[in-house]
Amino acid sequence: MSVRLRLTLLYSAILVFTLIAFSVTIYLTVSRVMLDFQENALVEEATQILTQGVFTLTVIDTPRGRIAVPETYVQVRTLDGEVADKSPNLGDFTLPISEEGMRQLRTGEAKSWTETVSTEDGRLLVYSKPFRFPGQPAGILQVARSLAEQDRALGALKWTLMVGTGLATVAAFGIGWGLAGLSLRPINRITQTAQEIGARRDFSRRVQYSGPSDEIGLLATMFNTMLTELQAAYRQVEQSLQAQRRFVADASHELRTPLTTIRGNVALLQRDPPISEEDRVAVLHDVAEEIERMIRLVNGLLLLARTDAGLPLRREPVPVCPLIDDACRQALVLADGRALVWDDTVEAAVLADRDALKQVLLILLDNALKYTPEGGMITVAAAVRDGRVEISVRDTGPGIDPAALPHIFERFYRGDSSRSGQNTGLGLAIAKSLVEAQQGEIRVQSELGRGSVFTVTLPRAEALPADE
Ligand code: ADP
Repeated sequence: MSVRLRLTLLYSAILVFTLIAFSVTIYLTVSRVMLDFQENALVEEATQILTQGVFTLTVIDTPRGRIAVPETYVQVRTLDGEVADKSPNLGDFTLPISEEGMRQLRTGEAKSWTETVSTEDGRLLVYSKPFRFPGQPAGILQVARSLAEQDRALGALKWTLMVGTGLATVAAFGIGWGLAGLSLRPINRITQTAQEIGARRDFSRRVQYSGPSDEIGLLATMFNTMLTELQAAYRQVEQSLQAQRRFVADASHELRTPLTTIRGNVALLQRDPPISEEDRVAVLHDVAEEIERMIRLVNGLLLLARTDAGLPLRREPVPVCPLIDDACRQALVLADGRALVWDDTVEAAVLADRDALKQVLLILLDNALKYTPEGGMITVAAAVRDGRVEISVRDTGPGIDPAALPHIFERFYRGDSSRSGQNTGLGLAIAKSLVEAQQGEIRVQSELGRGSVFTVTLPRAEALPADE
């Protein structure tokens, strides 16, 4: 059963029950009030008859005829129950009294007795009251009124209430059905959009809603927000899938080059007649170099794959100067005619993984030394800025072509100068991955002919470790 039908049925049922309860209350109240009115009138009339002592037929024998009170039937019974006299409007009819009523009036248990009796012409309300006057035999005065008129009015009221309830229910069902449909229309639209998105994978679709910002408005907004996020996530997944495909293709390509060289060299070694001793040494040297390059490449790829998968890095306070000192000393062996100077005065610590950060510095130092000609200078410095620590590696090398700058952190990107050598094009990509995994960032400034500055920025640790 649809929500629309369920809601409409529920509202209609509530309305029907309310109307029925209301109608029954009205009906019972009105009939009670009418009956009370008739009873009071009878009591009044009986009292008048008895207090004026005009309960005998003389009262009925007025100049206007023998009907004392036009709507009232009057009858007198002896205490034995015998009818002593009655008003002529009764004709042959005798006002009845139940045995119980007779007994109670006779014994004085009840002062008066009222009962309703059914006759062919409708119901009668009969009020009986005993009387005793000096010098007169005691008796029971009975006055009665027909309830036919009242019952007719009540019957009409009953029909009106029933028809009214029926019509109101039908109208309420119709209006409720329409209103429920109107209120649920935006939900239907959301469902339809969701279905279409599911079928076509079109996350650019949005639900069109221009109503008030009620619960349904909120649902539409939330649905659209969810779609926006889904669209972004989907795009991201697509982009990373593409990047991964490119990476795998590049990696295969990069690995194939040294393998091809090695295969060629091995073929040379297998030649018959064998190549000269001098060539053999050169070929073996080439093979060893290619193998070295492959090992570096595979290690780099492995590290990148691990950082992509979320390398478990520590986040602990690492004092900057000892780390710079350590990395620079290690890099000094490669300096070979270039000056390497570093600043060890900054008393600050960064929140980082010590080994990963040292590896980043080694990559930057390695590049700086690699690309700076003999006689050049490499400077490593640290500074605290806005709660973050900046470590910079500056060189006086050839600088980087502005066209190449946006690409140098890409995997396998190599500038013209390094294309031929042992370079893998992975160094800066690894450095960037490692820095970003530590919530840091890496940037470069470079001027052709003057040199480059690579700056790593990391969050500053609140306090230096206790032992430093
Ligand atoms: P690789 O050094 O193995 O080629 P990297 O990822 O470390 O790979 O560097 C990418 C490219 O960025 C290099 O090929 C080079 O062209 C350029 N580059 C990196 N560091 C420097 C630097 N200090 N001076 C000039 N060019 C640089």
